[in-house]
Amino acid sequence: MTRPLLNRRLAEFGTTIFAEMSALAARTGSINLGQGFPDTDGPEEIREAAVRALRDGRGNQYPPGPGIPELRQAVADHQREWYGLTYDPDAEVLVTAGATEAIAAALLALVEPGDEVIALEPYYDSYAACVAMAGGTRVPVTLRPHEGAYVLDLDELRAAVTDRTRLILLNTPHNPTGTVLTRGELTAVAELAIERDLLVVTDEVYEHLVFDDAEHVPLASLPGMRERTVTIGSAGKTFSFTGWKVGWITASPELVSAVRSAKQFLTYVSAGPFQYAVAEALRLPASYFDTLRAELSAKRDLLSEGLAQAGFEVYRPAGTYFVTTDIRPLGAEDGFAFCRSLPERAGVVAIPNAVFYDHREAGAPFVRFAFCKKTEVLEEAVSRLKQLA
Ligand SMILES: *Cc1c(COP(=O)(O)O)cnc(C)c1O
Repeated sequence: MTRPLLNRRLAEFGTTIFAEMSALAARTGSINLGQGFPDTDGPEEIREAAVRALRDGRGNQYPPGPGIPELRQAVADHQREWYGLTYDPDAEVLVTAGATEAIAAALLALVEPGDEVIALEPYYDSYAACVAMAGGTRVPVTLRPHEGAYVLDLDELRAAVTDRTRLILLNTPHNPTGTVLTRGELTAVAELAIERDLLVVTDEVYEHLVFDDAEHVPLASLPGMRERTVTIGSAGKTFSFTGWKVGWITASPELVSAVRSAKQFLTYVSAGPFQYAVAEALRLPASYFDTLRAELSAKRDLLSEGLAQAGFEVYRPAGTYFVTTDIRPLGAEDGFAFCRSLPERAGVVAIPNAVFYDHREAGAPFVRFAFCKKTEVLEEAVSRLKQLA
């Protein structure tokens, strides 16, 4: 057979950098600040809720296609209590196998071959692959470093819209830069979407991980946006159970119905007992979310200060699990080479941001570190990284 096995749409993607870097961490005994998963599980009572559901025989057989009613109600209540957004749990909420499936199902459902999809670059790695699987064309709009943070150039976004643009794929708080789009920026995105009649799929899995005085504003809460926005949430990051893969979308009945058409043939359903546990998690008191934020922002400070002392230029994140750094003050330019040598040099693994770019050269000197790890692990990483200075 001369024809390549992997089809043309996926051929460019290879295996994810996370597999390579996690293997490198294991082989060298390095501290893995590459992949963004917490090294401590979420609340004990929520773990127990999953055990109870499993023992009681709730969710061990196929749950309902749209998700169990308890979870859909909890998602609707969460959107109302936190953001004043009202969604009908029966027609306007869909439970998915993590945000990952929500992204895939939304793009497969809403994009025709040839449609253009605008995404903020650097972007989460599944976006490009899912746009490709849907037969769409991705159009990156690059967030650029400016005065210690990454910013969206609204003129560039506006200029990226063509007659073939179908949707904007947004992510705020933003992985990997830690940028939280402001109400002003989101208002400009909303006005553009309305003017050009675009849909928006917005990945808000870090909605509760915002620091200092940053505020998460759901795009769907802006005037005129509810009917054209698919909002994606997930229990993974908010409750520190990334292995459970419970996510959801909230959107109009028409959009939910479209996304469900794709979702039903991807996984049909998933995570039965965990859905019951996440329904309880979404009802945790505000103190849970406050503590999560306070602990994570202290970890952000610890790692950011350590990286600055080691000689990196640090872009202080306003949200998420991640801090992006510039390696040029350390005399390096190529993030790939830097990350491949870092385990030998300092016993730490990080991710080169270039993997999140179409314009690889725009991302070349940037490297991402995750701070969703135990304080003592971050302290050890910081002390190892000091060798670089
Ligand atoms: C982690 C992550 C996801 C995946 O969420 P799951 O619920 O684990 O599938 C999606 N989007 C972004 C930006 C992420 O960082």
